[in-house]
Amino acid sequence: MSASSARVDLDGNPIKPLTICMIGAGGFIGSHLCEKLMSETQHTVLAVDVYNDKIKHLLEPDSLPWAGRIQFHRLNIKNDSRLEGLIKCSDLVKPHITFPDLSSLQFVSLCVFVPFAIDLSGSAFSYGKSSAICTPADYNTRPLDTIYSNFIDALPVVKYCSENNKRLIHFSTCEVYGKTIGSFLPQDSPLRQDPAYYILKEDTSPCIFGSIEKQRWSYACAKQLIERLIYAEGAENGLEFTIVRPFNWIGPRMDFIPGIDGPSEGVPRVLACFSNNLLRREPLKLVDGGESQRTFVYIKDAIEAVHLMIENPARANGHIFNVGNPNNEVTVRQLAEMMTEVYAKVSGEDSIETPTIDVSSKEFYGEGYDDSDKRIPDMTIINKQLGWDPKTSLWDLLESTLTYQHRTYAEAVRQSIAKPLAN
Ligand code: NAD
Ligand code: UDP
Repeated sequence: MSASSARVDLDGNPIKPLTICMIGAGGFIGSHLCEKLMSETQHTVLAVDVYNDKIKHLLEPDSLPWAGRIQFHRLNIKNDSRLEGLIKCSDLVKPHITFPDLSSLQFVSLCVFVPFAIDLSGSAFSYGKSSAICTPADYNTRPLDTIYSNFIDALPVVKYCSENNKRLIHFSTCEVYGKTIGSFLPQDSPLRQDPAYYILKEDTSPCIFGSIEKQRWSYACAKQLIERLIYAEGAENGLEFTIVRPFNWIGPRMDFIPGIDGPSEGVPRVLACFSNNLLRREPLKLVDGGESQRTFVYIKDAIEAVHLMIENPARANGHIFNVGNPNNEVTVRQLAEMMTEVYAKVSGEDSIETPTIDVSSKEFYGEGYDDSDKRIPDMTIINKQLGWDPKTSLWDLLESTLTYQHRTYAEAVRQSIAKPLAN
């Protein structure tokens, strides 16, 4: 679809060009959102991040059709006073970047806040690659960084949006639901089959976390508190906000492959962990038997939902939205089996003799790990407000994602394995 000025929102009103300050634009979700906004809209993006590897293809060369509509600002929101200026959109002209005359734009600012738990001054940062420390492995081993990144560092963003009357789209997480009510029932209880005990609803489900020693929940708890703060800013000070709760969005450019474009000792999220095992022809590690259940949604489907939120403020403001695919539920073991099958198809290589092994969570993640048992999003609110439904099946999304992983990493992994032998 080409960008067109005649585009209309869900209520038939023409869509005016927006200027969007997107924090975390260089990450997995941010990169796909930038791609969508550049190729299908006329909006302008102020892309804020400490890294830009994942959006380089959108920034260069200058001859790209959207050149001038995307501007990268390398800054750490933890400690950079330029953030407020960007949110106010008053300090846009940087000496080394030419930018269109913003005074001619219909000036609506929208702050899409997508940073993750990340230590920007730690080893991952000096590694010099997209660190994407956004994994449960950090929640229990680096709980302070996790709480600071997801709560403290987000505070100024909420404050600036509230004080300057800017709309805020905040990325939270489905982890705020924690465990399901059903997980506390006896194993043989028939109520475990009743959706009332496991479907996660934005407006009625409780948030159930483990004890304080289970530091896994530091992330969920920090995210919950910032959600509550945003909600309170809306109620008391009129902040226009939308909160997004992603349910395991996956696809190309997610996280990193350890030792290739991230630290070799790093533990990314499950898609990248299993991709790494497949690329290296190692067994996929099933934490505590791989019995936890997840629903996976294709990043491109999920980005369509965010696009609708951006362009339909009257329908999105004041809402919390689950964004996931309830039809794509599997246990982690089933995910491992399907990924093994799909990877064999896309790589043309037979799978190894022992495709999976069990590993304890203590061994894999360390002390203080705990898990969400099951995550199925209720879709009533997003369906009613935005008419959004996910489309892509788990098999199809794994096929396109693993094709990308194989094309992007197989050769680099082969060389990294061959190197020690050559030495
Ligand atoms: P990501 O790590 O790929 O992207 C986050 C980006 O934010 C990174 O590029 C990082 O460099 C940047 N960032 C972090 N701290 C920053 C700082 N202080 N200053 C500037 N930039 C900073 O993660 P993602 O998967 O794209 O997730 C984005 C958001 O969505 C996060 O808030 C995360 O909690 C939420 N989320 C995502 C998922 C998912 O399925 N991908 C699930 C639940 C929640
Ligand atoms: N997991 C696993 N093996 C791995 C990585 C993750 O069994 O190599 C499990 C993890 O314990 C969890 C699920 O996969 O039950 C999803 O993990 P992810 O890191 O993607 O994050 P989560 O969905 O828990 O937020």
